[in-house]
Amino acid sequence: MIHRVADTSQISYHCELLGKEFVYSITIVAGSKVLSTLQKPIPQDVDGIRDLVQGYWVVVQGYREGYRADPVAAAHGPMTEREVRRMYWNRRHYEEGAARQKAVEELIRQQSVLSNKCFAALQAATKAIEKQMEFVVPIKTPFIFDCEGRHYSHHENCLWSSTRRLTVEQWLGLISQVVNRESAKLASLSGRNAAPLDRRTAISTSVRTEVWRRDEGRCVRCGSRDRLEFDHIIPVALGGSNTSRNIELLCETCNRLKSASIG
Ligand SMILES: [Zn+2]
Repeated sequence: MIHRVADTSQISYHCELLGKEFVYSITIVAGSKVLSTLQKPIPQDVDGIRDLVQGYWVVVQGYREGYRADPVAAAHGPMTEREVRRMYWNRRHYEEGAARQKAVEELIRQQSVLSNKCFAALQAATKAIEKQMEFVVPIKTPFIFDCEGRHYSHHENCLWSSTRRLTVEQWLGLISQVVNRESAKLASLSGRNAAPLDRRTAISTSVRTEVWRRDEGRCVRCGSRDRLEFDHIIPVALGGSNTSRNIELLCETCNRLKSASIG
């Protein structure tokens, strides 16, 4: 019913200026997939954010007003760069001579400098607001949202999707079911892998004989002669070899005690 979209994903606030208002959306990047929730106005009841939004709004407006206050710009009224360029290239509009042409060129230059400053201020503003949002408005987990007709849940850096709308409890329950099923599957896979490992632990007859003689047919720990087993001093799984140097005789009891102390 639910399906794992991606194992690793990043979730963050994305702020921008829309009209005269700062808005935010929550963006989830999972592999090549980028999902975004609907835009909402920045919550301005949070102190740090309100100061940032208002402060930067003043800065951005300042650049705009600065342009309007410019005498050359004021003479023409507010114009977009495109309008100014169209005017510049349209010969009919400047028979007034070189001085007028120069003024228009200056206007274009100033306007682009100002719009660059505006843009930089805006970028700084959105970055700062995004950071502040992360700090004062942490994104809840699981974060549940809808996108392109599907339902999503972002939980512990993992992105899940469902065709059905689910509650927080249903999401958490289904996610833990999937995770448990996966770990059970993984455990059974590693169990199957144990077979070739067993083959690697097989000890040749000549080594068995050599170890038996060296250890005098007794447990090297307690000296018992009962229920003896060939034990890898360094386990095969940890790189131990099947040579007599790495094999010793242990009774069953001592071997279990040793395994318990390693495990
Ligand atoms: Zn023993």
